[in-house]
Amino acid sequence: MPWLRGNLHAHTTFSDGVKEPNELVAAYEALGYDFLAITDHENWIDDRYWSAIPRVSSKLLLFHGVELNWPRFDQHIGRVAGERETLHVLNHPARYHLSVAQTLERIRRIGAGGLTLDAIEVTETGQRHSIYESSEIPLVKVATDDAHGPIHFGRAWVEVDAKRDRDAIIRAIRAGELRLGFAAD
Ligand SMILES: [Zn+2]
Repeated sequence: MPWLRGNLHAHTTFSDGVKEPNELVAAYEALGYDFLAITDHENWIDDRYWSAIPRVSSKLLLFHGVELNWPRFDQHIGRVAGERETLHVLNHPARYHLSVAQTLERIRRIGAGGLTLDAIEVTETGQRHSIYESSEIPLVKVATDDAHGPIHFGRAWVEVDAKRDRDAIIRAIRAGELRLGFAAD
């Protein structure tokens, strides 16, 4: 079975991305990706977001997601939805200049607040920050573009050993059956 390549974090004109959803999809199709998650900011989107994204026609396997703002401190959390499975990702700790110890404390506080994280981004808009690849952090490591515009497209990705099915991909990521890719490496 071929490994599937995807980006788990991307924005459209529903929030602060520069591309319409269909343009974003076309860009990732052109890069040869297998799947893409659209994860616009929860505080920007309106009801149209939830009806529009599933209607985007795509050769990619498209995940509908959202980027959440943790209410108790400044921290974005990615939510990537399958049919039954949902993946929660601690987004771009590098943006908040977190040490590994501070990252562990955030994961603990978010868990105490009722949200169990599955994964952590080791990237900031596709740039690698390898301190978050530390084995001290008990989450699956993922690399994403956090794509807002073309400069970000294709910088960092995950490859998953799974069948082409949203839930199968989420389960494989949660199980750590993935590898990371970085265009700059
Ligand atoms: Zn984002």
